[in-house]
Amino acid sequence: SNDEIGVVVDAFNHMTQKRKHVAEELEEMAIRDGLTGLYNHKFFYKSLEKEVARDDRYHNTVALLLIDIDYFKHVNDTYGHRAGDTILRSLSQRLLKRARTTDCVCRYGGEEIAVILIETNIAEAQAIAEELRILIEKEPFLIEDGQYIYITVSIGVSAYSEEAKEASMMVTNADKALYRAKENGRNQVCVF
Ligand code: GH3
Ligand code: MG
Ligand code: MG
Repeated sequence: SNDEIGVVVDAFNHMTQKRKHVAEELEEMAIRDGLTGLYNHKFFYKSLEKEVARDDRYHNTVALLLIDIDYFKHVNDTYGHRAGDTILRSLSQRLLKRARTTDCVCRYGGEEIAVILIETNIAEAQAIAEELRILIEKEPFLIEDGQYIYITVSIGVSAYSEEAKEASMMVTNADKALYRAKENGRNQVCVF
């Protein structure tokens, strides 16, 4: 009867919908970092390569920030690894809240976060980096035992240019700038 067919069609649609959700979830898992929910390293690199190729063709600008937490080993040693994880998660959320929807915020590695800024020149990227640095510095992070911990970050900035036309080159340059920020005393932004 029509009723019976209706029930079968409903069940089928329900199942298809459910499978679609599972597929979407799996897809999300492949590009997200489990701890922070940020994009993972693989997704970061693919995105940067895509943006660099686009830049080459259309002459938009793309910039890169490499953010590294200062003395994070000391934070783990003092408050425990679990507190370190909590701080890493909150810090990621704080950066995400400030980011534009077009910015790609990624967990680059351990306690390093990379941000791809599309249609952003080096001066604008430097200003954004400085804003993010202050955003982390000005408010402490709450850990499980109720303590508030102050954290700072160092940030290296690089941009697409005639000399840095590849994703790997942009990363190398941002990393060099980050190294300089650390050497100069941390809690600061350095531009390559
Ligand atoms: P620097 O200011 O030079 O960056 O000092 P640092 O201690 O942050 O740098 P170092 O590279 O020596 O140590 C990084 C630390 O970050 C060591 C590691 O235990 C910690 N770390 C990396 N990933 C995680 C994580 O997922 N969770 C926690 N809790 N700690 C992490
Ligand atoms: Mg590091
Ligand atoms: Mg560090």
